[in-house]
Amino acid sequence: MEHKFQQLSKRVMIMHAEHDTDRPILAAVMGDRRTLLMDAGNSPAHAELFRDELSKRGYKQPDILALTHWHWDHTFGMSAWNLPAVAHEKTAKALAYLVGLDWSDDCLEQLIAEGILSNESAADIRKEFGEKRAITILEPDILFKDSISIDLGGIACELVHVGGDHAGDSCFLYVKEERILFLGDALGPSVYGGPRKYSSTGFLKLLGLAYNYKAAWYVESHGIPMNEEEFRKDLSPWERLARIVDVFGHDRERVVLEMKAYLKVEELPKDLLQGLEYFMAGMK
Ligand SMILES: [Zn+2]
Repeated sequence: MEHKFQQLSKRVMIMHAEHDTDRPILAAVMGDRRTLLMDAGNSPAHAELFRDELSKRGYKQPDILALTHWHWDHTFGMSAWNLPAVAHEKTAKALAYLVGLDWSDDCLEQLIAEGILSNESAADIRKEFGEKRAITILEPDILFKDSISIDLGGIACELVHVGGDHAGDSCFLYVKEERILFLGDALGPSVYGGPRKYSSTGFLKLLGLAYNYKAAWYVESHGIPMNEEEFRKDLSPWERLARIVDVFGHDRERVVLEMKAYLKVEELPKDLLQGLEYFMAGMK
């Protein structure tokens, strides 16, 4: 398997997402004094790949970890790093609940029933960790409520709580000096506890927040980094969809008609049709 790494700027390096077991992007932000790691990876094996690449390039290993949200794919690699971790207080609460579980099949089923995992994520956990699942959950060390700034020496990271449908603890991580905005999964729909959902109002609020940064790079954890223009282009049909849903609400036919007219197409692309279902579910 090939793992792709990208130097996003002089002081920021990322490892790209892998979709096979839902591995999100990991990033190292390298200051004069300290290096910050964004997200821990979905397993120690995932973490190891990034650690190796940092060594290979002669970079310092991270001194501090910042979490974008509690979901397994961003946190289950924590034990491999042994770093002080910064996280939102809700992230800490969610992780504390997972400490000491045995991660057996029964345990996974139970978590799905509780709306803490989905069938898809449980399948990915089985695939990532194998049959004998030794999963160690660690709790974060430094907690914040609204935002926290971490000065790494000549470069600072701001972790800002934004919440949203995907996870109530979702945070953006902004690297001011390089104008790189890591969005985590904040723009995604809810994924646990029943059908995926989007609230049009919540989505538009988050999108507005993201646009306000006017960042050079927009990085969603399971996507490809985009410049501002690409990001706006990528999100514009979704923004329009959310606005139409806001106006026409439950009138699904009307929403489809309006979207087709806007995009000047006969059929809506698959991803938008699926998105429409999420928005409809989000209104119930
Ligand atoms: Zn997530």
